[in-house]
Amino acid sequence: MPRIPADEILIAGHWRRGRGLPIHTVDPADGAVLTTVHAASVEDVEEAARAAAGAAAAPEWRDLLPHQRARVLHRIGDAIEEHAEDLSALQTADTGKTLGETRALALSAAGTFRYTAAALETAEDALTPSRGPYLTMSVHEPIGVVGAINPWNSPIASDAQKLAPALAGGNAVLLKPAEWTPLVSLALGRIVHQVLAGAGLPTALLAVLPGKGSIVGDAIVRHPLVGRIGFTGGTGTGRGIAHAAADKLIPASLELGGKSPTIVREDADVEQALAGVMYGIFSSSGQSCVAGSRLFVHSGLYDAFVGELVERVRKLRVGPGTSPDTQVAPLVHHRHRDAVAAYVDLAREEGGRVLCGGAAPQGKRYAKGAYYLPTVIDGLPNSARTCQEEIFGPVLVALRYDDEDELVAQANDSDFGLACGIWTRDARAARRLGRRIEAGTVWINTYKQFSISTPFAGMKDSGLGTEKGRDLIRAYQRQKSLYWGTDSAPLPWAN
Ligand code: NAP
Repeated sequence: MPRIPADEILIAGHWRRGRGLPIHTVDPADGAVLTTVHAASVEDVEEAARAAAGAAAAPEWRDLLPHQRARVLHRIGDAIEEHAEDLSALQTADTGKTLGETRALALSAAGTFRYTAAALETAEDALTPSRGPYLTMSVHEPIGVVGAINPWNSPIASDAQKLAPALAGGNAVLLKPAEWTPLVSLALGRIVHQVLAGAGLPTALLAVLPGKGSIVGDAIVRHPLVGRIGFTGGTGTGRGIAHAAADKLIPASLELGGKSPTIVREDADVEQALAGVMYGIFSSSGQSCVAGSRLFVHSGLYDAFVGELVERVRKLRVGPGTSPDTQVAPLVHHRHRDAVAAYVDLAREEGGRVLCGGAAPQGKRYAKGAYYLPTVIDGLPNSARTCQEEIFGPVLVALRYDDEDELVAQANDSDFGLACGIWTRDARAARRLGRRIEAGTVWINTYKQFSISTPFAGMKDSGLGTEKGRDLIRAYQRQKSLYWGTDSAPLPWAN
């Protein structure tokens, strides 16, 4: 494993302390300070951006052929896999997530680099139908320097989904991790730095710049050399970035928040649905953009289904992410745990009934950690704030429905449109509902499954632009048209 990042960050191809405010990263399982990272300042962003622009334009990077650049991506993927256990342990310490989940995220990041390498080797520029005595071509070129700004919930996966296509596209990247979870991005930075140096490529192709979003993130977005932003995070932040990108007339992809409906029809396989609904909201302690946080159950099944669900949720094992039998780990930070608790208090004020959870777990094991019990609430209308706003924690609101039109109206009555789950044995109903619900991803008889080869995008306030899928590199390139005269036929004004 490359050295576990202590306090240095990656600026302009070199590891050194940033000149910004220090960040004390905390293990949310017990509140212990893991390390102090000396974060980036605006001056550091300036230095990193200039060096990145130079690196992107350097012939040894710019002139690489696709299969040569793909080789670099394969090496990064291999190195991530080789260090997957260490990356997993680091991410569990930083985010609180279970080791099982962080291991899967590290391996998925390796897979993202490999898939992107394959996409790069097979991507074709087009010879377009000609309408005159010339060949016409549509080709793709690097943008130059791109900014990648990520949230704290799945750092290595979010980083890989931006870094791999951006590098494949021939760019240099300024990566900003979330303030609460900078460590795994710095570790990934060590891996990429070693691969670039080993291949004789400019190490300034990647900068890792932790720091406050309003300072460091904003400086990246507004920097004149940054020609594209890949952002994942909250809708409010995304909207601000979209405004700043519009001022500069640069593209920005925005992967934002959600409040996704999970629908259990009367004809569902109940066992499958119970397991899927619980996994959909309580895995990652609900800190997932696609968490199935609004549960719609048909009236005919509601009481029995929700009753059994609550029994099972009470039995979920809450504990530290390092414990092999933990199902619900601590939240990322004590401040976030308190924000989640405040939403449950709001639900009570709104008239909701807390059927289970609704508090931090008691006992010595939990005393110093950012824990919150998995919580199920019912008795609220879909219009309640608790049903409309993203809580981003282990909180499920249960609602009943009688007919499909009413269900669709309620499910779509949300600012968000990220994901949806449908549990049914009726294939026609699944297809019909899947098309009627406004969501970028619909899971039928499964939930929270991902494939790098399948595009991912949000509708409405859940985002703009697409990540993943065969065209993932194109989002980090500029398109250019070439007209190439093929005979000596004179142009209209020739003598
Ligand atoms: P956030 O507060 O929006 O922060 C996301 C990132 O943006 C962080 O690195 C943050 O830095 C930075 N940032 C904050 N203000 C900024 C500014 N003015 N300019 C540039 N960057 C700025 O979101 P979060 O609380 O970290 O993450 C949770 C949100 O992410 C949820 O809404 C969740 O649904 C969403 N999410 C979406 C997806 C998806 O694919 N759709 C996936 C995962 C998460 P600091 O950490 O320093 O504030």
